[in-house]
Amino acid sequence: MTPTFTALVKQGLQTIGHYRRALARTTLPGVAVLCYHGVRDDDMAPGTVPFQYLHIPAPTFESHCRVIRQCCDPISLDDWRAAIDGRATLPERPVLITFDDGYRSVLTMAAPILQQYHLPATVFVCTWPMGSRRMLWFDHIGARDGENAVEGWKSRDYGEWCGRCSDTPRVDEGDPRALMTPDELRTLANIEGIEIGGHTSRHPILSRASAAQQRDEIEQNIQLIQEWTGKPVRSFAYPNGRPGFDYNAVSTGILRGAGIDIAFTTHPDFARRDEPPLERSRFLLLDETSDAELAHRLAYSWPR
Ligand SMILES: [Zn+2]
Repeated sequence: MTPTFTALVKQGLQTIGHYRRALARTTLPGVAVLCYHGVRDDDMAPGTVPFQYLHIPAPTFESHCRVIRQCCDPISLDDWRAAIDGRATLPERPVLITFDDGYRSVLTMAAPILQQYHLPATVFVCTWPMGSRRMLWFDHIGARDGENAVEGWKSRDYGEWCGRCSDTPRVDEGDPRALMTPDELRTLANIEGIEIGGHTSRHPILSRASAAQQRDEIEQNIQLIQEWTGKPVRSFAYPNGRPGFDYNAVSTGILRGAGIDIAFTTHPDFARRDEPPLERSRFLLLDETSDAELAHRLAYSWPR
């Protein structure tokens, strides 16, 4: 794709170090929590997989990591917890990297880059397709019926959705949409700086489910992650994650009872000090976001 004039200007500003200097003078209004999904080879042809925009090319992800390391203050969830508890203070430009869903590429492609730049990250995973070696439901329906069909299913009742969408085919292990195996999740969890959090068993829209169904989705997910990794689960990301639509007070109550101390939505904002701890905002990052664009958003265009 030919870059737009604005994109070229931003790339020029990035090249001459403008954003680095601008960010050095900036205090962010909260934690910039970045929400990624998968990482892909740079040469994947457009339209190879549905929702390809959620899988960022590895070189782009590396360029993001360079911006975060050079221009911001990367933090882990534990750093943040220490600040919330008053045991530490947050740096001026705190950035937390997160990944949703549990794609294998987070282990094989993102983790080496994170380690290269010494960046902590939190990875929220769906356990049912991991354990049963199935596709995530939206990847399956998206490939079979198109991406728009997935949107339609998000407003259906949990029972109907579960019967028609959640029993997905076995995944081809070489497919970029394959999730990690339980063993691979343990490997990822053992990398220093990586925390594994919950994302439900099957990735339903929680607000469409009864309290009992929500409880099963959340508690089975947490229990399996703990079993597979041998570590406690203390963080969570709501599937789809829009406040007021995709989860409700029942969901939040179940998380609190399950020992979750921080949970994330997809409301695009800095995670500010006055936000409820179980409804923290995040910025979604897509495959076309360049390093210059990320730096521009951090320095100027994300809401102050
Ligand atoms: Zn998700």
